Order: sequence, then structure tokens, then C-alpha cells
Amino acid sequence: MAVRRKTTQVKLNDSLYIGSEHPIVVQSMTNTPTSDIEASVSQVKQLYLAGSSVVRLTVKDEAGAKAIPQIDARLQAEGLNVPLVGDFHYNGHLLLDQFPDCAASLTKYRINPGNVGYGDKHDYNFETIIQIAKANDKAIRIGVNWGSLDQDLLTEFMDRNDGSLSFKEVIYQAMKESALRSAEQAMAAGMPEDKIIISVKMSEVPDLINVYREVAKSCSFPLHLGLTEAGTPVKGMISSAAALGILLQEGIGDTIRMSLTPSAGQGELADRSLEVRACQELLQALELEYFKPSITSCPGCGRTSSTYFQQLAEEINEYILEQINTWKPKYPGVEKLKIAVMGCIVNGPGESKYADIGISLPGDNEEPVAPVYIEGELHTTLRGDNISQEFKEILDNYIQSHCHPEPERRQDLITSTMGS
Ligand code: SF4
Repeated sequence: MAVRRKTTQVKLNDSLYIGSEHPIVVQSMTNTPTSDIEASVSQVKQLYLAGSSVVRLTVKDEAGAKAIPQIDARLQAEGLNVPLVGDFHYNGHLLLDQFPDCAASLTKYRINPGNVGYGDKHDYNFETIIQIAKANDKAIRIGVNWGSLDQDLLTEFMDRNDGSLSFKEVIYQAMKESALRSAEQAMAAGMPEDKIIISVKMSEVPDLINVYREVAKSCSFPLHLGLTEAGTPVKGMISSAAALGILLQEGIGDTIRMSLTPSAGQGELADRSLEVRACQELLQALELEYFKPSITSCPGCGRTSSTYFQQLAEEINEYILEQINTWKPKYPGVEKLKIAVMGCIVNGPGESKYADIGISLPGDNEEPVAPVYIEGELHTTLRGDNISQEFKEILDNYIQSHCHPEPERRQDLITSTMGS
């Protein structure tokens, strides 16, 4: 298990903190025009219910700033206390000043130091945002992005380089310095240290790892990790998981986002909440956080007698996604369950025995039966056309009997699951 880097903790609301020993927070961002209240509420809800603890919206103009309190009120009316983050570029100081209800409704302001203003205006604009954040007791994220890195700062670092640093290394230094100087400036203007989160996003995996390692060594602010412009779903998820996985394994990172370009078509890859599920899968794969029961399923091979096991793995996964928000409050520990859905006798019984519940479907030339294992023991053997439904019932019964609030029982479950 990675040892988390020590950081300050930033309170977003009474139940959500970022940094220190608090769970690593999954976040995401809408792609609706914020002024379209209906569409924005709908997407915030989708992301939040998928597990995004924080949702960011672009606040780019007056209409967007005016819409924020209404979006917040609509969500609150539905009982959804979603921490909303405002993403500001160029005119944040004006919008936050002109629309105090917007400033009050947001939980956090994202400030890009490269886009706050140029020359003499930079410091004034930046400090205006800081004063508003202070007055409203809000957190800020100083979000440096290499696509909009402060060019004066980059020039300063290029001029300073005596040739010993590569171009990329100069960029890492300038990115780090942009974030840390801005944090110092915010604190000099009265911003408490425990209200500041930092990010230094780049779009190439090795760059991201290098720049975050540099920043992690140099400060104790919580870090928001994300590969910027990660790309289309498969490329974006793989690249983000590669970069974030390495950093998280080194204990670096307190909140994460995968910035995926959704597919233009239909289906799972076009679903905006894919970026939330991908973050959850990453944190769960690293055994850092748990969100839903995990399914181990084999890829299938020449021994597979049909596609039924793929279908069953998908059906169980969909069933879990449908049920998880209902299960979690009722059945503590349910998110740590391990389920195996396997295609034949070669690895099926073995893998199934290591799971809390496993099913091994019949492969080619095997008897058409599906043994089900619970905690390593053969529980029953399913056959016929109703295997999926019967397996879901066995899963329901297991959850009801094993995941309940008594502390001793829950601890037993956690220990037995971790041991498997
Ligand atoms: S468990 Fe059986 S079907 Fe699945 S990959 Fe292994 S050998 Fe193939």
C-alpha cells in the first residue's frame, strides 16, 4: 500500500475534505454551457450520482455566473448537496465581483494563473479573486496548465537556463514555480494555507509524472491530479491510468480527474460519467479506495463454449451499477466484495474460490453446469436458462447476510476480503 504524501487538509464542506488522510476524491467537469440550466443540472446530477464527489462547471460569462445559484438551488431542492467548482479564465475577478450569489454558491474556485491577466493587471485580478474567496470562506485550486503557462515566467526560466536543463525540464520548473508563486501570493493576500489545492497539468504521461514529482517535493498543498486533454476514451483512460497510477502508487495525489473526450456516438464511451467510473476503477485497482464490488472475469479463449460468460459478466456489472447507491447506505462493506465470473474449468474454480462469490461457466466439451463458490466453498451448481437471475439472487442474499452495520461483523468482512 502506498504511503500518502503528507499534506494540509482542505475542507470543502462539512462532509468533504481533500488532502491529508482523507479519501482520494474523484471529480469531473460538465461540458454543457453553464447558462443552460436544465442541461447543466442534468449533467451535474449524472456525474454526481455516478460518484463524482465534486463537479466543476465553466463560468465564462455573465449568463453562466447568473446560472450558478439557480443550478445549485435546483440540486439542493432534489436533496443533492453537490460541491460545485467554478472554472474561471480571464474574467473571473469581474464575474465573482459582479455576481456575489455565484461566488457564494460555489464551493471552490479554480484559478489558472496563466489566464488571470497580463502585465500589471495580473496581480490585481488575482488578488481580487483571493479577496472574494476569503470573504466567502471558499477554497481555491491554483490550476496551472502547460497549454496556458504564464509566458513571462517561461521566458524568465528559459533565460535563466545555462544549458544544463532540457526544454522539458525548464517547463517543469516554470510550471512548478507558477503554482508555488501563486500560492505564496494568495497567502500573502490573506488566504489560509488550508484553503489551497494545486494542480500542474500536462498532456504527456512522462511529463505529468515528472512535474508532479517536482511539485510534491516542494510543498504540502493537496494535489489535484489529471492528465490534461487526455484524449478519446480508450487512449485517455489508458494514458491517465498510466500517469496517475504511478503517482498514486508513490503516494502523490489527493483528488483526481480523467479528462476524457467522450465519443460522439452512443453507448458507454459517449457517456460523460465514464470519466468518473474510470477514476473509480483506477483507485479501486490500486486498492486505495473502494466504490463498488469488483468483478474478475476472464478474457475468454478457444476453450470458451459461448459468449454467455461475457454476457453474464456484463449483466452482473450493470446490476451492481444499478444497485450500488441503494446498497451502500444499507450494507456497509459491500463495495469491497470480490466477484468472479469465469469461462471454463481451467482457471474458473480457482479464481472463483479466491473471490467472495464466484461462478465458473462451462467451457467447450464440459458438462453444461455452473458451480458457484462462496468464500472458497462450493455453494451450489446452477444449470439451465436462468443462471443469471439465480446468480443475482445468490449475490443479493450474500450481501444481505454479510454486509450489515454491526462493527464486529463489518470488520470480519473487511479482513476476509482483504485476505482474498
Ligand atoms: S478461464 Fe478458461 S475460458 Fe477463461 S481464459 Fe482461462 S482457459 Fe480460457
